[in-house]
Amino acid sequence: MSLAAGRPYLAIPGPSVMPDAVLQAMHQPAPNIYEGDIVDMVRGMVPDLQRVARTKGKVAIYIANGHGAWEASLANIANPGDRVLVCVTGRFGNGWAEMAEGLGLEVDRLDFGKKTGIDGARLEEALRADSSHSYKAVLFSHVDTATSLRNDPRVLRAALDAAGHPALLMADCIASMGCDEFEMDDWGVDIAMTGSQKGLMVPPGLSFVFVGPKAEEARKSVKRVSRYWDWTPRIDPEAFYQFFGGTAPTHHLFGLRASLDIIHAEGMEQIWHRHATLARAIWAACEAWGADNGALRMNVADPKLRSHAVTALGLGGKNGQALRQWVAQNAGVTLGIGLGMESEEDPRGEGFFRIGHMGHLNAHMVLGMLGTLQAGMTAIGAHIGPGALDAAATVIAEA
Ligand SMILES: *Cc1c(COP(=O)(O)O)cnc(C)c1O
Repeated sequence: MSLAAGRPYLAIPGPSVMPDAVLQAMHQPAPNIYEGDIVDMVRGMVPDLQRVARTKGKVAIYIANGHGAWEASLANIANPGDRVLVCVTGRFGNGWAEMAEGLGLEVDRLDFGKKTGIDGARLEEALRADSSHSYKAVLFSHVDTATSLRNDPRVLRAALDAAGHPALLMADCIASMGCDEFEMDDWGVDIAMTGSQKGLMVPPGLSFVFVGPKAEEARKSVKRVSRYWDWTPRIDPEAFYQFFGGTAPTHHLFGLRASLDIIHAEGMEQIWHRHATLARAIWAACEAWGADNGALRMNVADPKLRSHAVTALGLGGKNGQALRQWVAQNAGVTLGIGLGMESEEDPRGEGFFRIGHMGHLNAHMVLGMLGTLQAGMTAIGAHIGPGALDAAATVIAEA
């Protein structure tokens, strides 16, 4: 019997759960876009966004999803024919590389597989081999949302520095910003980007490119950028419309203002700590379900390499898909699909699923979601080890 009535829980890695305050802030009439509150509100939002990315750099806001931020970041630093090096740790790294190819860039990929993070020594070697310094930028996903691998930007910075290579360091933080610790300036990242619908808890439709001084300088060597994607007017707008290259996305901005208030009332350190602790509770349950010949496997074995915002899991057979269906139909929980996990044995990746645990999320939501997964795995007949919910509750109790 379905027990799904009641408040649904979207446990996918974006869009994430939206706070009621964000939804309520969006429920208002269309504002005057020429002057007044919205103009002041947007100017006031810039420093609050910089505090999320931990940068004194500029921010360009686009009315776009994350794919738009991928394109914007590249269009402003490279001419067609320029070379970039992409460090791939899952589907999203490949997605950014494909975007670069579509813009006419020469793309080299270093693929680190789906289970281990970026190896700084291998990156350094590739950079040293580029003795003419032809790479304009090194691209990577801070968290690859498909594999749930988390790469340490400091490892990439160190490789660039050790090789004495001047390429820009560009971080896709779409799944991690506002969830995982990230220090754009202190860690030497030149461009970072995120979208509105993950750690920022706003509907999909806004994206943000943070531009450090080296990246601003690199823009000058790009001959032609479309008026829409050019970040120059957006980061230093003289007129209000230039923030957005046209009409402001008024209601997304109302939502974002509410979300930035929530974020800075909690504080970035506390947000990172909350995500890390809730992630540890999830991992403790997953480890128990996988023990005693249990079928559940976390994709990333090393906890130091795991995202605190998304967890990729395998349950074998078609049980990833079966579990997703069961919890949606019977319990009001929506889990993420497995992405990029296809193999010969499992050509459609049906053994896999993902838990999104980003943004507006607390201990009771996580414990409820884990209890629901246990019910679902029991109902579909997956073999799981005992003690998972106790293990998760203990992590929360001791936090
Ligand atoms: C979600 C996501 C994207 C893509 O964002 P869209 O808004 O779907 O275009 C890119 N990179 C990462 C790491 C993501 O998590």
